[in-house]
Amino acid sequence: MASVRTSPRSSIQSTADHPTGVAWGPENETCGSCAWAWGKKCRASTQRIDPAWRACVAWHGPLDCLACAACCGPAYDAVELRRGDVRHPDFVIVKDGRAQIARTATNYCSALGEGNLCAIYGERPRCCRDFEKGGANCLDARRRSGKTPRWPSERVDRGDDRA
Ligand code: SF4
Ligand code: SF4
Repeated sequence: MASVRTSPRSSIQSTADHPTGVAWGPENETCGSCAWAWGKKCRASTQRIDPAWRACVAWHGPLDCLACAACCGPAYDAVELRRGDVRHPDFVIVKDGRAQIARTATNYCSALGEGNLCAIYGERPRCCRDFEKGGANCLDARRRSGKTPRWPSERVDRGDDRA
C-alpha cells in the first residue's frame, strides 16, 4: 500500500468514565469481545486493558471486510507489486517506474468487484496477503476512511488528513 488519500477528522471525546479515558460503551460487551483488543492491549487506545472491563464507546464487534473495503481504497493510493506479484497483468499498470494495480475513477483497487469481492483473491499481491484484519494497518485504513473514529490523543499531523 502507498500514500494516504483522505481522512475525515472524526474522533472520540475524552471523558473520565472508562479506564482508557473515554465514555462507556455497550453494557453487555467487554474489551475482550472488541475487535481492537489484542490480548491485554487495545489497538485503538494503545493502552493496556483488562479483557473483563466493560466496553468503551469505541467498542467494535467482529469486522466484516465485505462491508468495509477501506484498505482496498480510498485509504491508500496504490497497491504496489513486488517481484512475483504480477500474475494478472490485465490489472497492472506502471506508475513512476513501479508496477501496481490500476485504480478506479473513485480510487479503489480495480480488482475489487461487486460486493467488495476481490477478483484475484487467490493470487492477490503480497501486501494484501500480509494485511491483517483487526491489525494496526486495518485500524489505520478504517480511520483514514472515516469508518472508525480516532482516539482523542491520536496525532493527526502526519499529513494524512488532507481532504
Ligand atoms: S476500543 Fe474500547 S472496548 Fe475496544 S479494547 Fe479498546 S478500550 Fe476496550
Ligand atoms: S480495513 Fe480491515 S476490516 Fe476493512 S476490509 Fe481491510 S482488513 Fe477488512
